[in-house]
Amino acid sequence: MKILQQVFEQVKTRNPGEPEFHQAVMEVLESLEPVAERNPEWVAAGVFDRFVEPERQILFRVSWVDDQGKVQVNRGFRVQFNSAIGPYKGGLRLHPSVNLSIIKFLGFEQILKNSQTGLPIGGGKGGSDFNPRGKSDGEVMRFCQSFMTELARHIGPDTDVPAGDIGTGAREIGYMYGQYKRLTNSFTGVLTGKGLTWGGSLARTEATGYGLCYFMEEAMQSHGFGFQGSTVAISGSGNVAIFATEKATEMGGKVVTASDSDGYVYDPDGIDLALLKSIKLVKKGRIKEYVDQKPNARYEADCSKVWSVACDIALPCATQNEIDAASAAMLAKNGCKAVGEGANMPSTPEAIELYLKNGIVYGPAKAANAGGVATSALEMSQNSMRYSWSFEEVDTKLKGIMVGIHTAAANAAAEYGQPGNLMFGANIAGFLKVARAMYEQGVAY
Ligand code: NDP
Repeated sequence: MKILQQVFEQVKTRNPGEPEFHQAVMEVLESLEPVAERNPEWVAAGVFDRFVEPERQILFRVSWVDDQGKVQVNRGFRVQFNSAIGPYKGGLRLHPSVNLSIIKFLGFEQILKNSQTGLPIGGGKGGSDFNPRGKSDGEVMRFCQSFMTELARHIGPDTDVPAGDIGTGAREIGYMYGQYKRLTNSFTGVLTGKGLTWGGSLARTEATGYGLCYFMEEAMQSHGFGFQGSTVAISGSGNVAIFATEKATEMGGKVVTASDSDGYVYDPDGIDLALLKSIKLVKKGRIKEYVDQKPNARYEADCSKVWSVACDIALPCATQNEIDAASAAMLAKNGCKAVGEGANMPSTPEAIELYLKNGIVYGPAKAANAGGVATSALEMSQNSMRYSWSFEEVDTKLKGIMVGIHTAAANAAAEYGQPGNLMFGANIAGFLKVARAMYEQGVAY
């Protein structure tokens, strides 16, 4: 990096102790160097310096009472990163690992992802270090209500529209939406991922996993292969993983793995989707229960080993940095031909380097998993119209959006001199629209 090196140095100085945020910014700025070269007026207007600084960062106390009557205190976050092309939009993560660095990296990536969908949504992200695992429904409800009591004053259907993420599913969105409605006396599309009888969109639940498969099929077909007849390794067993498994199977692939943070299962006969759904969605159990019903399958109590399973296509759908250099090397050695990121930033920079070096078709998260937020934006449109589209209508729009994202990333990669590098292309395609809007809107907004 030449022109943008000092932007990155400033990010490190200004945001000490935030490694995930640094990692995400560095990867993007490296891709944007040729954009800076071609657009000196953007450099002069400080577009790049402004782009890496959130418009607003909100940190707040979330106190709630557990089932024993004890007061618990968590920390709430909402980073409203960029509103140049629309209201802030991005999920709420509930996980003990949540901190400002993680929320900022996610919010930053979200700007580019949302831009690529072609829909008018800015970038943001939020959450809390609250751990929903092992909590009763009552505890989760009291936490969500307390969380929303503070968040409500900062969001709105034309300002900031949060959604789900790790740990925030339909139940949590329901409790939060109920509290928002109570506080504001309004029924608006302020959250997405809502229940189908109160403003939710059909196909939202499936959208990230389905969209990932639509995107990867496009990417792989341009190299002469696809899901048909391929062996697929998938990590995670949450929302994204389950519906990626469903769509990859429907498209002719054989998915052989599923995991959670305790371990992974390998089923040589192909993952039994009905069983996976019943364990994870109905019983809210652990993935190791899968082998109780499937004698041919095996369980290993180390989730990182999932990448030692031989596959043609790997779809990491669990969490950030889950594929490091060693795992990437193992994938390459075992003949993996494509990696598509369902999770956000699941590959370390060293892993990405290995994919590119080994000619692995690489679908970066900010393009490949944009189907979820794209469908959230479609939910916002339906809420504004007070109308609902059918599952098929939403799914068709989703497919069109994912194909469009692939085309835009592939074209930008070629135009800026790295044909086939979809990460490079996605960073540029997403950035151009936001940068133009920031430039045209002037400095002091
Ligand atoms: P869920 O909470 O539904 O599922 C997360 C899954 O990942 C769980 O199976 C969880 O297991 C597992 N997991 C968590 N940490 C680890 C780990 N260290 N190693 C292995 N497995 C782990 O979340 P989602 O499916 O919604 O999200 C998954 C990823 O996709 C995240 O990166 C999220 O940001 C991203 N994403 C989600 C979108 C959505 O629409 N939901 C949209 C775009 C991106 P356990 O039960 O043990 O915690």
